[in-house]
Amino acid sequence: MSIPFIDLKKQYEEIRPRVQERINTVLEHGQYILGPEVQELEKKLAAFTGSKYCITVASGTEALLIALMALDIQPGDEVITSPFTFAATGEMIVLAGGKPVFVDVDPRTCNIDVTKIAQRITSKTRAIMPVSLYGQVADMDIVNEIATRNGIPVIEDAAQSFGAEYKGRRSCNLSTIGATSFFPSKPLGCYGDGGALFLNDDRLAQACREIRVHGQSKRYWHTRIGVGGRMDTLQCAIMLAKFERFEWELKRRQEVALRYHDLLGKKFPFHGYNETATRGCQLLPWPDAGYTSVFAQFTVLVKDRDAVQERLKARGVPTAVHYPIPLNEQPAYAKFCCPDCTPHASALGKQVMSLPFGPDLTIADQDLVTSELIAAVQVPQS
Ligand SMILES: *Cc1c(COP(=O)(O)O)cnc(C)c1O
Repeated sequence: MSIPFIDLKKQYEEIRPRVQERINTVLEHGQYILGPEVQELEKKLAAFTGSKYCITVASGTEALLIALMALDIQPGDEVITSPFTFAATGEMIVLAGGKPVFVDVDPRTCNIDVTKIAQRITSKTRAIMPVSLYGQVADMDIVNEIATRNGIPVIEDAAQSFGAEYKGRRSCNLSTIGATSFFPSKPLGCYGDGGALFLNDDRLAQACREIRVHGQSKRYWHTRIGVGGRMDTLQCAIMLAKFERFEWELKRRQEVALRYHDLLGKKFPFHGYNETATRGCQLLPWPDAGYTSVFAQFTVLVKDRDAVQERLKARGVPTAVHYPIPLNEQPAYAKFCCPDCTPHASALGKQVMSLPFGPDLTIADQDLVTSELIAAVQVPQS
């Protein structure tokens, strides 16, 4: 018996009546597209983040695309981002016509190294798109300050960080546009694809709303080029049921992450980054004061990752890698690559390994994961 990497079944068992009630309501009223649950959810999520507007969309990927389209990214425009992310981040920049400019990451957080952004700004830079990886935001004050100085907007790829805090404010409401994902395994997920945009600017919000539905400002009147990018009513209804226990889940995520740190921290402290210095395993540091992580992934750095993953798998502990190869080293991004300019992202890609994690992970399973990890990295290496 293997423990689940993310336990969505347990979560469903807890909320089954509420989910079914919500689904039934939609089936009865029949407004499957942009029904009342869509607005109800948008209102609740906007209030949660403190943003003026929340606009639900078909996925996190779609959220990024719509944000870039609303900001009118044109061919040749440069968008500064992190290469250490899921493909959608760089992909949507290219699809919107832009050119991704990859800035290396800070190995303590795996987020964009904010001290390296300013030197990559050119006359063509049109936006900065930091990624809040593993559930923790980058130092957004610095990102915003660089952006303001250069008169450009900031899009937060908050696909992994819904619920995270930064200096008392919520992720998704820290920049010009916040874009998140409700993919089932994200901290707040639906039971299919979904996502949302968060903004405070009236004109930009209107643009996003129109782009979501084929650039329509009213029915069959197309003021701009858009996409078919709505989140459907059933998914919004499911999320409304799931959102009821989200605050509880956030607390549990903190507790489980703290316990992992307690059980593993002394043995595997972070000792500064340097590939050869990794002694078997290192924990990433606990978030700095002013930051909270929602631990979309609980990720550690290991040496001989393939072997460690194999040993853990044999002991019933699944693991995953987020992400093995930075985007600037992927074949599809060859023309945007800057050789050797992201050494930390490259080195981290070889060592990151995510452990089973979630609000429903039991104490017994936490103990199993940590003891098996300790055993797996201590097997003498050939
Ligand atoms: C999941 C993810 C996305 C894409 O979200 P989808 O809802 O799967 O389209 C984008 N960026 C990051 C960092 C992600 O983790």
